Amino acid sequence: MDTRHFIKTEDKYGARNYHPLDVVISKGNGIWVWDVEGNKYMDCLSAYSAINQGHCHPRIQKALTEQASRLTLTSRAFRNNQLGPFYEEICSLTRSHMVLPMNSGAEAVETVIKAVRKWGYTNKKVALDSAEIIVCNNNFHGRTITIVGFSTEEQYKEGFGPFTPGFKSIPFGDADALEAAITPNTVGFLVEPIQGEGGVIIPPDGYLQRCRELCTQHNVILILDEIQTGLGRTGKLFAEEHDGIEADVTLVGKALSGGFYPISAVLSNAEVLGVFMPGEHGSTFGGNPLACAVAREALKVLTEENLVENAATMGNYFMQKLNAVHSPHIAEVRGKGLMIGVELKPSAGGARRFCEALMHKGLLCKETHEHVIRFAPPLVIGREDIDWAMERIGPVLCME
Ligand SMILES: *Cc1c(COP(=O)(O)O)cnc(C)c1O
Repeated sequence: MDTRHFIKTEDKYGARNYHPLDVVISKGNGIWVWDVEGNKYMDCLSAYSAINQGHCHPRIQKALTEQASRLTLTSRAFRNNQLGPFYEEICSLTRSHMVLPMNSGAEAVETVIKAVRKWGYTNKKVALDSAEIIVCNNNFHGRTITIVGFSTEEQYKEGFGPFTPGFKSIPFGDADALEAAITPNTVGFLVEPIQGEGGVIIPPDGYLQRCRELCTQHNVILILDEIQTGLGRTGKLFAEEHDGIEADVTLVGKALSGGFYPISAVLSNAEVLGVFMPGEHGSTFGGNPLACAVAREALKVLTEENLVENAATMGNYFMQKLNAVHSPHIAEVRGKGLMIGVELKPSAGGARRFCEALMHKGLLCKETHEHVIRFAPPLVIGREDIDWAMERIGPVLCME
């Protein structure tokens, strides 16, 4: 089958909830992918940061196939010999006290919403059914009804109501707004350290520190959604480290899978996750031995191959190169580590056409929020790869 045929088949049967670039990928290795016609591309999206370790990392692949031939699923009705070691390793790496595994990022978000609400009723003594959670405008936390209900993006929610009550949205990057929004019923503040889907938006210096102080002062659980920013993407294991703070609860997903098998986790101090009693929460596939074996190896690869440090140095190099491009279209280049956004001026006619031009030159990028091109390659990228990319990105950014 050729490209056109694959696309036609997809479009004939599939729900139209995505608008992908018309490239049909059939193979991946490290930062590179190949389409069905044999064309090679650099992956500058990394499946929204789920492929931080690079495509088909051999060590993770080995862990997956070995575990797949031994044991894949027990359900949590029984124990399995991968879960305990996974807990121990992720808690020690992230200095967490307790962990709850789920499958997708959205499920981790749903889990923490349940946990902080219950924590509010049992520990903070908030009146039953009146807990409030504060979120930020322009957030992205996933696609369930509850989560899109507290999105401020009309497209995410229009036609999907009614929504779950109990959320209040404030401007991102504005700590005074947080202070003003906190009431005695506030149980949690859910925020991304850098808004990823919102357009790679970096808050002002000192913002997260001030949020940390306010949450401590008012007995509010600070929940950082590091599903995209975490596990090395920004040049630190967690983006919170740039600000020298520690969240009460951290959400991880995406790269915890090594790009192989979905797994997410809620990491917390014991107090918050400690509210769950048997039967109050769960997932058939959550914590299955295949996912745990993959995640254990995915974490080892991140640390043993120094991918976090590499993201920091390569991110700086990439940003420096992008900043040196003189194009009338560029409004701003911003980022941390290998989470980089190039914001185009409205006069540039949208980021999509630049992504399409880059695809024809061998780079797969995705626009985010209409005017931003995101560059987020796997963290295994090297200097010469960035030089290769820049030879193509420079001219495309300068095109008519
Ligand atoms: C991708 C993402 C999610 C949702 O993860 P899914 O696995 O797609 O459900 C949540 N929060 C952030 C910050 C994300 O980038």
